[in-house]
Amino acid sequence: MTLSELSQETVQCAKCGGVGLFFDPQIEVGRYGQLRLCACIECRCGGRAPYQYWDEDSRSQWCPCRFYRRKMSETNRLFRQADMPERYKWKFIDDFCPIAPDGTAIRLAETAHRYIPELVGATREPKRGYLFYGNPGTGKTLLGCIAINELMLRWTKPGRFLNLSRKYFQKLRDTFSEESNNYGQTGQILDELCNIPYLILDDFGVQRGTDWELEMLYDLVDARYCDERFTVVTTNQPLDEIKSMSQGRIYSRLSEMCQLIPMDGPDYRMHVL
Ligand SMILES: [Zn+2]
Ligand SMILES: [Zn+2]
Repeated sequence: MTLSELSQETVQCAKCGGVGLFFDPQIEVGRYGQLRLCACIECRCGGRAPYQYWDEDSRSQWCPCRFYRRKMSETNRLFRQADMPERYKWKFIDDFCPIAPDGTAIRLAETAHRYIPELVGATREPKRGYLFYGNPGTGKTLLGCIAINELMLRWTKPGRFLNLSRKYFQKLRDTFSEESNNYGQTGQILDELCNIPYLILDDFGVQRGTDWELEMLYDLVDARYCDERFTVVTTNQPLDEIKSMSQGRIYSRLSEMCQLIPMDGPDYRMHVL
């Protein structure tokens, strides 16, 4: 039985949704707060390794917390490896302040609460991602990262943040150069991105690159489309711009694998907790 299947069996809890863990943003250790065991998991060992307790007949038993403590280490590892920008690393749906100090509703929070809970509450892993498009400063990257973070926490599977900058394409190009440390690793880099369960492609279309870059991008999108992998895309480009890339092939894939969500509204950064 896998970690995520087991967690499905736990009693539904309003606090953790059956995950058994939650993120406590209270800053005590380090900068970001930490994952904690939810009160719905009965711990009888005092939280000490090897997580055993003695029953009435003085036999040692594994504590119910043991599985969740393993899961906590695993989840921490997944978050360390996701390459999220620091400021989005431990953000979740609860981080939205739905009303601005002047009493007006915040558009980004509305959008977040309209779409993200369907991910968090899903009893099956979602296949269809999101394409957030609109002007800079409308919170697309934040929302995309939250979607990936919620999924990593819920299903204990890896997610990855990829900014489609020149740097990324340069790294790919380097794999063809014998002098580079990444020489010969083209397939490895691409395979990893194709296979990672949850991926956010940030700033899609910003490079409007060479034919070679577009082909690399198409291959990545197409591979994820074929394997039905959850993908979030953010872009500042109008959809027409995406439609014109690779003779419309990229857009046609994205529009099937993602919900298209327009983002507008005033700068959200003022309203995030
Ligand atoms: Zn709980
Ligand atoms: Zn315990």
